[in-house]
Amino acid sequence: MRALISVYNKDGIYQFAKALEELGYEIVSTGGTAKFLEEQGIKVKKVEELTQFPEVLSGRVKTLHPVVHAGILYRHWVEKDKEEIDRLGIKPIDVVVVNLYPFEEKLKDDLTEEELMEFVDIGGPTLLRASAKNFYRVVVVCDPKDYEWVAQKLKDGSLSLKDRKYLAYKAFSLTSYYDAVISRSLSSLFEMDTLPEKFALPFLLGATLRYGENPHQKGWLLQNPLEELGITKSKVVQGKEMSFNNYLDADSSIRLVSEFEKPACVIVKHGNPCGVAVGKNLTDAFEKALNTDRESAFGGIVAFNDRVDKALAEKLTEIFLEVVIAPEFTEDALSLLSKKKNLRVIQFFGYSYSFDIKKVSGGYLLQEEDNQDYQEIKVVSERHPTPEELKDLLFAWKVSKYAKSNSMVIAKDGRTLGIGSGNVSRVDSLRCAIARAQRYGFDLKGSVLSSEAFLPFRDSVDLAHKAGISAIIQPGGSIRDSEVIRAANQHGIAMVFTGIRHFRH
Ligand code: 5GP
Repeated sequence: MRALISVYNKDGIYQFAKALEELGYEIVSTGGTAKFLEEQGIKVKKVEELTQFPEVLSGRVKTLHPVVHAGILYRHWVEKDKEEIDRLGIKPIDVVVVNLYPFEEKLKDDLTEEELMEFVDIGGPTLLRASAKNFYRVVVVCDPKDYEWVAQKLKDGSLSLKDRKYLAYKAFSLTSYYDAVISRSLSSLFEMDTLPEKFALPFLLGATLRYGENPHQKGWLLQNPLEELGITKSKVVQGKEMSFNNYLDADSSIRLVSEFEKPACVIVKHGNPCGVAVGKNLTDAFEKALNTDRESAFGGIVAFNDRVDKALAEKLTEIFLEVVIAPEFTEDALSLLSKKKNLRVIQFFGYSYSFDIKKVSGGYLLQEEDNQDYQEIKVVSERHPTPEELKDLLFAWKVSKYAKSNSMVIAKDGRTLGIGSGNVSRVDSLRCAIARAQRYGFDLKGSVLSSEAFLPFRDSVDLAHKAGISAIIQPGGSIRDSEVIRAANQHGIAMVFTGIRHFRH
C-alpha cells in the first residue's frame, strides 16, 4: 500500500503520515514534505526515487510523471490496466494527500505578477483531479480537517465508497474554486480590474456595464460559461447597450412569458409585471397586456414567446419602450424596429432554472430557483370555480410568481386587469390592483384574484367581492383560513388553495 503526500501547509501532516505508516503504507513525498516528515522520524521515499527523474524548474515539475499518475489512475478491476502496470513496474498509489500552493492568500501580498504566478499550483490540482477521478480505488484528502477521521476509518477498516466519493467531491470543488480564483485575478486583461477584489465565483467572462442600478454605482455583467441559456446568452439585435436594470427586467420577462403557451406577451417595469396576456395572436396579446396599465407600461420591457411580425412591430414603435424581446423577428419587423435607434431588440433562446444568488452584507444568499407551480389545486369553498374561472385562476397564479411580494393579480379571459405588487400590506396591494383596473374602466364582475401568499385576514375577500371578483387562488395555510373560507362562502366566491407560496423579494 502506498500513500503519496505533497502538502504546502504542513499542519497536522505528521500525525496523519504517522497513522498511515503504522497502517503499513509506504510514504512517498515531494521535496519539502519529504524533508519535513523525515525530520520527524517518518520513513519517506522521495518522488524522485520513484520516477527516476529529478524535480526540475525550481519545483514546477515534481509529480507530473507517468509513474505517479498511472499509479493513481490504475483500475485494478480492468485486466488491461493490471497487465500494463505490471509490465512497466508501476506500483499503485492508494492514498493521495495534497494541499495546494496558497494562491488566494498570496493575492493579498504585494507580489509582482511573476512572483504571484509561481503560486499557481500545477502538479497539486493534477494529483487531486486524478485521484478524485479514480475514487473507486483511491482515497484523496485535500483538507487537513479530514486527516483525523480518514485515519480513524482507515484504521478500523470502515472507510466506505461513499466516503471516498465525498472526498473526491471535495477535491473537485477545491480545484474548480482554485482555478476560478486564478482566472479572476487574470481578468484585468478584460477590463475587469475594478471588480471587487475577492469576487471568486466560478464566472469566467465579464463585461463592464455603463453603470449599476444607479449612475453613481459601477456595474458589471458576469456570464456563467456553464449556462447555455438565459438572458446573458441572448442576442442583442439592435439598440442601445443593455443596462443593469434592463438585464434584470428582461430576465423576469423572458421567464414569465416562457410559462405560457403561444402566443403570449408580458410587460415588465422595475422588476414587476404591469401587463400580461395570452391572445388570439401576438398583436392581440400585446394590446391586451398594454391595456392593463398603459401608464405603467411607458418605458417598459416587452417580451413575447413567439415570432414578432411587421404588424406587431408597427404597434411596438407607437409607444416608448426600453426593450423588446422575442425568440424570433421577421425581417420586415426588424427593419421597422430599426427606425427606433435606441430601442433594444433582443432575441432570446430560452432559459433554464439554476440557482438564485442574492447579496447580503458580508456574503451571499444562495437558493434553488422557484420552479414549482403548485402542490395541488384544492377547492376549499362551497362553490367550485367554473372552467373559465379555473383557467383564469391558473393564468393569474403564474403572474403572481413573478410579481414582488406582497402582490395581488386580477385577471379575466387570459389577461391581467390590475396588478398590485411590492406593497408591505396585502390588502393594500389589492386596493392598488382594483384602483388600477378601475382607472382603465375595466368591469371586474366575474374576474379572478391571485394572491402569491396566504390571505391573513378576510378583509381582502370582502374587498374582492365588493369589486365584483368571483374566484380567488391562494396557497392557504393561514391560522385564519377558516375565517377566510367562510367569507368566500358568504359571498359565493370560489376559492382554491395551491399548497405552495411564491414569495418574491
Ligand atoms: P513540497 O513542499 O513537498 O516540496 O511541495 C508541496 C507542494 O507541491 C504541494 O502544495 C503540491 O500541491 C505541490 N506539487 C506537487 N507536485 C507538483 C508539481 O509537479 N508541480 C507543481 N508546481 N507543484 C506540485
